[in-house]
Amino acid sequence: MCPLGKVRTQAVVYRGSLTPRVVFVGEAPGAEEDRTGLPFVGRSGRELDRALESIGLSVDEYGVLNVLKCRPPRNRFDRRAAVTCRPYLWRQLDLLRPEAIVSLGAHALQALVPSAPPMLSAAGRPRASGDLPLFPLIHPAAALRSRRLRARWEQDVRALGAWLDERDA
Ligand code: URA
Repeated sequence: MCPLGKVRTQAVVYRGSLTPRVVFVGEAPGAEEDRTGLPFVGRSGRELDRALESIGLSVDEYGVLNVLKCRPPRNRFDRRAAVTCRPYLWRQLDLLRPEAIVSLGAHALQALVPSAPPMLSAAGRPRASGDLPLFPLIHPAAALRSRRLRARWEQDVRALGAWLDERDA
């Protein structure tokens, strides 16, 4: 068994539409997620939902999940656990069949596109992850930490909205 399975309260698998247009891929559950069993329900999750509402994405159009399904101790992303969890991530994407995916933060981007450039060069620029279109964003927690990153987050979220509208047209 993966060591993280022994220290978490419960696995955190998914929240959102079962026929999502877009799936948001975060990094790992935090304390609130570990307690409730749902991804992105803490401060970062509220920032994410608010940002998605601002671009007109309704809750029945998207879903959220994480690369890691178990909360890592001290919230430190665990790359070995990410390798163990990878088959679950691929299976989730296979079953959900979204039109596009959005990575949130550097670890999620790295898990989806190992050859991607550093986060701030990649964010806001669509690329591919296997056969799925991918739009990388910085992590919403970053927007809560600094003014400069909030401005970047908001700019890239608007670009995501425009990209999704274009794909609709
Ligand atoms: N909550 C999550 O579910 N994932 C993150 O990456 C951060 C907070």
